[in-house]
Amino acid sequence: MDMPHQKENIYKILVVDDVESNLNMITDILSTVPEYRIVSATSGRAAISRAKANYFDLIILDIIMPDINGLEVCQKLKRYPVTREIPIIFLTADTKDPKNIQKAFQAGGSDYIPKPFSREELLGRVKMQIDLKRNKEELVKAKNAAEMAAHAKAVFLANMSHEIRTPMNGIIGMAELLKRTPLNVEQKEYIDIISASGENLLTVINDILDFSKIEAGKIVLESIPFSVRDEIRNVISILNFQAKKKGISLITEIDDEVPAYVKADPVRLKQVIINLVNNAIKFTETGSVTLEVSCQEVNNKKRIFLFKVIDTGIGISEEGVQRLFKSFSQVDISITRKYGGTGLGLAISKNLVELMDGEIGVESVEGKGSTFWFTASLEVMSPEEVAVLQQKEKESQRGNAKSEIRSSNILLAEDNLINQKVAMAHLKKFGHKVTIANNGIEAVDFFSKFRYDLILMDIQMPEMDGLVATKLIREFEKENHKQERTPIVAMTANVMAEDIKKYMDQGMDDFIGKPFKADELKEIFQKYLES
Ligand code: ADP
Repeated sequence: MDMPHQKENIYKILVVDDVESNLNMITDILSTVPEYRIVSATSGRAAISRAKANYFDLIILDIIMPDINGLEVCQKLKRYPVTREIPIIFLTADTKDPKNIQKAFQAGGSDYIPKPFSREELLGRVKMQIDLKRNKEELVKAKNAAEMAAHAKAVFLANMSHEIRTPMNGIIGMAELLKRTPLNVEQKEYIDIISASGENLLTVINDILDFSKIEAGKIVLESIPFSVRDEIRNVISILNFQAKKKGISLITEIDDEVPAYVKADPVRLKQVIINLVNNAIKFTETGSVTLEVSCQEVNNKKRIFLFKVIDTGIGISEEGVQRLFKSFSQVDISITRKYGGTGLGLAISKNLVELMDGEIGVESVEGKGSTFWFTASLEVMSPEEVAVLQQKEKESQRGNAKSEIRSSNILLAEDNLINQKVAMAHLKKFGHKVTIANNGIEAVDFFSKFRYDLILMDIQMPEMDGLVATKLIREFEKENHKQERTPIVAMTANVMAEDIKKYMDQGMDDFIGKPFKADELKEIFQKYLES
């Protein structure tokens, strides 16, 4: 079927034949189609130079010619980038041997018309090649447009996330500081609400960002040794708070078979558990939520873990179940109004579980409760690896017990006044002396004149950004043969993995995501400013 815009299109066809009468005959037939413009060539050489100098949509090429035969012409044209994509239809009377047909296709031909041919056959085959070429071009155009749109979306999401996180730093940070001042009961309640709302908003932003990263295939799981029981205990102690508020009991049952340590991505594993347990608490009014963990041996390195989250909540209808695990889908709009949520949690969980070579599913009875489950294939650690890890844990506990943060000289490079205030207040609480640089240039200037124990560096700043400033500071250290390398910690709302990698590559040592918590700052100080 013709496309509506095809009439406006003109297609240029090069016809190559050494016999003048053949050329005329083909040109006459093709000229009956108003959109075709015909150019002719009577030798292989002429054909190649014309094809290189002009744009053609199709070449009709005789095989047997005195100078260079059609097969060679075709091979040559397929080698040049400008002519490579032009479809070629061969013409020849020499069709008795099927090998000749095979050779024509091997040379790169798209079709083959045996002589003598009918007018209908010529027109039909030419039209087919032109249509194919046009469709291919449209597909390539559509693919490029889709890729550009996907890229624009990813950039937009990253920017939005940055723009939202920056003011959130002011809100959450100030609320946290305000909580530590003398307040009456009413004021304390209001501040708690500001904090909780800020945290909720941050979860939504993180969900959207995670989802876009998953869509772009940008999430890569880590392989870190950790204790399964410890991580689960951590997660449950946080969620217990919510369960208690609703009067629900939160129960954990970990099978004895479950190995003490695994090598996997603890953050992503916990993210799935938190999603499911959070939902279970959210959609349960009375009764309990139980997390069951068991596992099956695959071989001496791998186990398949089964995590089950069983609730006695509102349950999900059969058609509701069908819609689960899809992006932006919630079972029922009235449920959303009552309970809130973005409908991304389960879609993200499903993707993460698949990255762990597992599956996710649900069994549910409306009004009675649901059991969400997922499997994950995790690597277990050898006894030797466990021994090394336990030794390290002991050492770090001993280190932590005696480590005190010494009061230090800190250079804070940050252009945003509110964020300066938030950071300043936190830093003073630790007894540090703080110098503020309003941009990268000031930061480098101060660094060259005074001595600092640690630099907290915002990335996006006017005049000079944090990355350039870091590079210059590292160069200054080298040129002046400084023995100590001053730790530089990025303080940034750009928290995508590829951003963090860029910071480290530029000479930074660590990062702290905005909005940050007092505890996160403390961890950084413990790491770099031990007395
Ligand atoms: P949301 O962030 O909106 O909760 P999810 O993807 O986590 O998004 O969940 C999608 C929907 O699945 C929820 O809105 C709810 O309707 C349903 N759902 C999830 N978990 C449960 C559960 N434990 N009990 C009942 N319904 C649930």
